[in-house]
Amino acid sequence: MPAFLCTTCGAQFAPAEAPPPACPICEDARQYVNPSGQSWTTLDALAAGHWNGFRRYEPGLYALATFPAFAIGQRAFVVRTAIGNVLWDCIAMLDDATIDLIAGLGGLAAIAISHPHYYTTMVEWSRAFGGIPVHLHAADRQWVMRADPCLDLWEGERLELAADATLIHAGGHFPGGTVLHWTGAADRAGVLLSGDIAQVAPDRRSVSFLWSYPNMIPLSAAAVRGIGARLAALAFARVYGAFWGREIMADGREAVRRSVTRIVEKLGAA
Ligand SMILES: [Zn+2]
Ligand SMILES: [Zn+2]
Repeated sequence: MPAFLCTTCGAQFAPAEAPPPACPICEDARQYVNPSGQSWTTLDALAAGHWNGFRRYEPGLYALATFPAFAIGQRAFVVRTAIGNVLWDCIAMLDDATIDLIAGLGGLAAIAISHPHYYTTMVEWSRAFGGIPVHLHAADRQWVMRADPCLDLWEGERLELAADATLIHAGGHFPGGTVLHWTGAADRAGVLLSGDIAQVAPDRRSVSFLWSYPNMIPLSAAAVRGIGARLAALAFARVYGAFWGREIMADGREAVRRSVTRIVEKLGAA
């Protein structure tokens, strides 16, 4: 039986004879249903016309995304940590070339995902690398469209994946919104992998925090302050966002602090 993927968000559903009646992730007010109607594909059909491209940003940190862009169009990262490589965030497209290339980097030890828009084909990724755990924040459990024993629904404010890689619960865009703090960079500067929990802006000097990005719905000042406080507790120089070109390569912590102050001021609650 095929496991259908939503073409708008890339979420894969449990195998079934027919596609589900709707995609709850796209029907949610944070997303949108394909204007030409809900549509579905499969991983095989996707792989027939798409491929993944890789880019190394620094030693031990590779980004990958799908060409031509599919669904939300985000990138994922392979991050070298003390327990082995961690896949940060996820993309729907997975093929033999991707598996071979990541195997060449040493395979994967774990997967961690910032929020439900990037859950995509996480179960396929886990199986391709030996049934490795997929760490998702438990506050977003209702958005899991394909349950599987590989899923680790963690609770609380932080989860140490490795001595040099910790998941931080930040909230915001989704109640379980998570970022990855990596301290394994060659220059020992901290790195924040922010998904779209802290969305790196096109100026590459600031971030923003929205409840919905496609529908442009803000968070409250209190929520932005809360995320700001959680990120201020971390030491980091660089911030890598969810999309190509969206990275802050120096003074990232100060950029986040400045952004939080400005947004709270604009929200009229300074
Ligand atoms: Zn969807
Ligand atoms: Zn999102």
